[in-house]
Amino acid sequence: MTEAPALYPAPGVDPPITSEGHESIELQHVTKRFGKVTALDDVSVSFVPRKVNVLLGLSGSGKSTLLRHVNGLHRPTDGTVTTLGTPVHSASERTLRRLRGRVGMIFQHFHLVGSMSVLENVCTGRLGSLRGPRIGLFSYPRAVREDAMEQLVRVGLADKAFQRADTLSGGQQQRVAIARALIQDPAVLLADEPVASLDPVSSAGVIELLTSISEERDLTIVCSLHQVEIALDFAHRIVGLRSGQVVLDRTAAEMTREDAYGIYSAVAAPVAVDDRSWRSPR
Ligand code: ADP
Ligand code: MG
Repeated sequence: MTEAPALYPAPGVDPPITSEGHESIELQHVTKRFGKVTALDDVSVSFVPRKVNVLLGLSGSGKSTLLRHVNGLHRPTDGTVTTLGTPVHSASERTLRRLRGRVGMIFQHFHLVGSMSVLENVCTGRLGSLRGPRIGLFSYPRAVREDAMEQLVRVGLADKAFQRADTLSGGQQQRVAIARALIQDPAVLLADEPVASLDPVSSAGVIELLTSISEERDLTIVCSLHQVEIALDFAHRIVGLRSGQVVLDRTAAEMTREDAYGIYSAVAAPVAVDDRSWRSPR
């Protein structure tokens, strides 16, 4: 008889963050309430390791809330979340900090420090693994600075390394944010609407970069988007969210445009019968 996996370690015992076979990201029956708002409603989903997984849904459908459960920025009101073998719902803050070292995140508005050089912004991606505060590029070990430069080469911005981050275009800033996430050598990258603030050309560049990095590094990407066309081009797998519920979950290859747009069009149906419960209560 094989032993059951130790998903629920004794209190105070830190489980391993990663080991062979612990690549999965899985939510089971996750409900998340913020006061009277139910942001996630009995969500069960698992993401495909080493592939691009897209969360598709309208604003307010629960995409950001779901992403923030994967690295423990939110804990479920009910249900379980397991990321890279770590039971996020019950993990200690210390365990979550270690987990976040393996889970990078990028955002719609990049979250760079505008007054800092591009290179130093990338170095800050390693703050979690360095002791003490760092002020100024040269407070980082040389190996970190060299690594940061390598990441900038990868995202095509080595020539901008010593410029202030706020002098770059939106697309370039998102590439810097990607470099900052990559310097952690993450197993998982969470991307919360990474192209929502970008023009179509910059969006395409960022999406192409994310796709090729996922392939090169065997990186699992979970990316929220609201644009169907980008999702169909970019995703290996699409999970549709509506009003905090999973309404569709299949590989992009098996999905038609109608299926994908159905995530949205079905939203309109309840209005016709005067059921507005899908609406955000705010
Ligand atoms: P999306 O990212 O798809 O736009 P969100 O996950 O941000 O959706 O939000 C889902 C629902 O949860 C919305 O109704 C939103 O107003 C609500 N919500 C999200 N975060 C919070 C919070 N911290 N406090 C209260 N309500 C929240
Ligand atoms: Mg969001």
